[in-house]
Amino acid sequence: MGCVDEKPINITMPYLMDKVRDEPSAYLFLEKMRWQGRPFCPHCHGENVVYLNPLNGHSRLTRTGNTSQRRVWKCRDCVKQFSVLTGTIFHGSKIAVRTWIFVVFEMCTSKNGVAAREIERKYGITNKTAWHMLHRIREAMKNGGVDEMLGGPGHVIVADETFIGGSLKRMNAGTRRKAEAVQKVIPHGAKLGGPSWNKVAVLSLIDTTTGQVRSKVVADVTGATLRKAVAEQVHMESSILHTDEAKAYRAIGREFAAHETVNHAEDIYVRKLAGKIVTSNQAENFFSQLKRSLDGTHHHVSKKHLFRYLAEFDYRYSTRDESDTSRFVRLLGMVAGVRLSYRPLAAG
Ligand SMILES: [Zn+2]
Repeated sequence: MGCVDEKPINITMPYLMDKVRDEPSAYLFLEKMRWQGRPFCPHCHGENVVYLNPLNGHSRLTRTGNTSQRRVWKCRDCVKQFSVLTGTIFHGSKIAVRTWIFVVFEMCTSKNGVAAREIERKYGITNKTAWHMLHRIREAMKNGGVDEMLGGPGHVIVADETFIGGSLKRMNAGTRRKAEAVQKVIPHGAKLGGPSWNKVAVLSLIDTTTGQVRSKVVADVTGATLRKAVAEQVHMESSILHTDEAKAYRAIGREFAAHETVNHAEDIYVRKLAGKIVTSNQAENFFSQLKRSLDGTHHHVSKKHLFRYLAEFDYRYSTRDESDTSRFVRLLGMVAGVRLSYRPLAAG
């Protein structure tokens, strides 16, 4: 019984509802997507593995005496058992594998992300569970890009930073008075040596050649802090840097092959240099979409979890030219190696 056709498929919600009808078909679907016909042992990575048929043909007893429709494999090399969930973000979860697949699909296909409240209502699970599922999926999204550096010969890297959070409208009166007092000293939106009160500084780096973006929460926007964050993510010496005229980038720019700036203070966002366009508009667009979504979908994002939302937006932006199917299948390939249990997650 194959659950996915051999020809290229276009995965949509109706397709999933048809192919992923129950737990066994959910397992088969994940096996097909993750293993691509070559099952391997997650413990020793050997391919000498065999499927263990349940004694009654369809389900097996768990240690607690319940029946499970889990598809179990055995490795002939290390003699350990495993399933397609072993070592992934789905491992050890009480949520149906079928539900996981649907929620991952929603995360990969909705432009502004999905809210935990929405998943709670749609799938009849608690808010805490929904919140935890979404964060695990974000963790897989984060896992996808960390090893890959941006930049390279001829690549243009746009770097820009923004401040997130601390909207006066949403604060209670006491917090607002404090915030307003600080903002009298620190003009709103001004570029400072550190984020203004109650806001978090975020640095985004966009490789305009590949379309990849990496965002990072930074402690402040001084040259030293930004330099460290840029160096971690970019092959600086071979790439060209585009920024606004913030002083913090001057020293960093000298480590790049070239550094071009646009003067935002004079309302110049695009300029031509030797026939080439210099702009940091890509970053402006990325930030405006990020903020719209954080405001509209997620309402309140705490500072300590912001990096996971950034990973989600980076993933979606970096794969924006791909089809939904491709973005979804790519993520299913990234779910291994990440396991987040509720306790450390909630504790930050
Ligand atoms: Zn093994």
